Amino acid sequence: SPILLWFRRDLRLSDHPALSAACKTGRPVIPVFILDDLVKGLGAAPKWRLGLGLENLSDALADKGSRLILRRGAALPVLRELIEQTGAGTVYWTRAYDPDSMARDTSVKQTLKHDGIQAQSFGGHLMFEPWTVETGQGSYYKVYTPFWNAVKGRDVDTPLPTPGKIQPPETWPQSDNLGDWQMAQAMQRGAKIVRPYVRLGESAAQARLGAFMAHRVADYVDDRNRPDVDGTSGLSENLALGEISPQQCWHAGIRAREEGKRGAETFLKELVWREFAYHLMYHTPRILTDNWREDWNAFPWNEDQRRAEVQAWKHARTGIRFVDAGLREMYVTGRMHNRARMVVASYLTKHLMCHWKIGMRWFEDCLIDWDPASNAMGWQWSAGSGPDATPYFRVFNPVTQLKKFDPDGIYAKSWIAEDRQTPTDTALSYFDAVPRRWGLSAQDSYPEPVVSASDGREKALQAYENRDF
Ligand code: FAD
Repeated sequence: SPILLWFRRDLRLSDHPALSAACKTGRPVIPVFILDDLVKGLGAAPKWRLGLGLENLSDALADKGSRLILRRGAALPVLRELIEQTGAGTVYWTRAYDPDSMARDTSVKQTLKHDGIQAQSFGGHLMFEPWTVETGQGSYYKVYTPFWNAVKGRDVDTPLPTPGKIQPPETWPQSDNLGDWQMAQAMQRGAKIVRPYVRLGESAAQARLGAFMAHRVADYVDDRNRPDVDGTSGLSENLALGEISPQQCWHAGIRAREEGKRGAETFLKELVWREFAYHLMYHTPRILTDNWREDWNAFPWNEDQRRAEVQAWKHARTGIRFVDAGLREMYVTGRMHNRARMVVASYLTKHLMCHWKIGMRWFEDCLIDWDPASNAMGWQWSAGSGPDATPYFRVFNPVTQLKKFDPDGIYAKSWIAEDRQTPTDTALSYFDAVPRRWGLSAQDSYPEPVVSASDGREKALQAYENRDF
């Protein structure tokens, strides 16, 4: 009988343990993707990007004589219906680690097993399953460096090849049309503005990894901090949707390290930051919703979204160039340089004293590399409320940060059009991207800072000193 291969955030054919296991049985494989409430609830940019990823996966499967069957509804009834229609006796999928997916998957597994169906989950999204990394005391890790030390010497699975053949079923079950799912509905700027920046699918990801290892990894130690340089792998959007596996990245990094490329070790460490984020989300899912450090509940966060400074931040008109450049980069390209992410997050949570959740949700709506674990960890780290967080008194100064990491002003120039005689095309494209109701024009003059770098620092530190926690 056929095997249902339930795709989720694992949109690739190579190094896909569940797919390889299914193909190895020699039985027909029916790939399926389900539009359930978790998918419906995605932010605008991640949902749009997922739609592109599904189209690409569907083409890749078609090249192999297979298909991607699309169905909508709650996962369990959809799978049960497909089982009935196809006579499938087995369902395979790649594990997820966020609490909502885990609750869904646990109940699917239990019920299908009860129905007499073989339901099995596989690894592939992470290198180190969160429950396999333990401290000497048998607990989880709360600090990155010991986590790194615990995993750095481990054997990481060798990537699996793309299956030679994906056996089709005798008859295909009916499928929805992707177009009817309206994955782009909330993302007006998607096709015109963001699309040129997308590196779509498995082959683009592999090419990007190859180019990074050939040209950029050697200088990665310094270049990764420079928003004006294309010095990082750019693989986060592919990792987020599983268009490349962390194992494939890891082994490429190990090879580069063996070749003596200087930045390779740093790249491996960054991949482990992603694993650490998942480790934290698995063991303390509250990182997604609450101050990870409870004493931060007493901090006087501004939680009112409608305040002028929140609007200025979201519209990238704070008058602080590094902050505005970063937020515009995200709105136009769906990505933001890591240094800029730290700076815009620090400015929102410290200078403006706004709750990190406001920023986390905005990122969730705008990032094509949105990842629940890395985003939550990044925001709580920046705010000071997270595990292994930056100490509160280390307030990033967005002005000196820009001088240091964008010494020639290239990044700022790329994204800020106001007050310039000849603005760059990217800077102008921001004004084409934003909704008209924001009322922005490239001819406006550049605003005075909402809160200046030094005032904001003083205010934030005072609130911190006066805290009663
Ligand atoms: P590279 O420098 O090439 O690194 C390689 C890979 O390592 C990345 O693709 C990523 O998977 C991982 N990695 C690198 N840095 C980090 C990090 N700090 N935390 C976790 N993993 C890391 N990353 C996301 O993928 N999705 C998010 O939603 C996200 N939100 C963030 C929010 C904030 C406030 C901050 C400070 C960081 C966030 N990050 C997020 C982490 C980081 O900024 C991005 O992973 C990185 O910029 C992606 O670019 P790259 O692929 O070129 O990274």
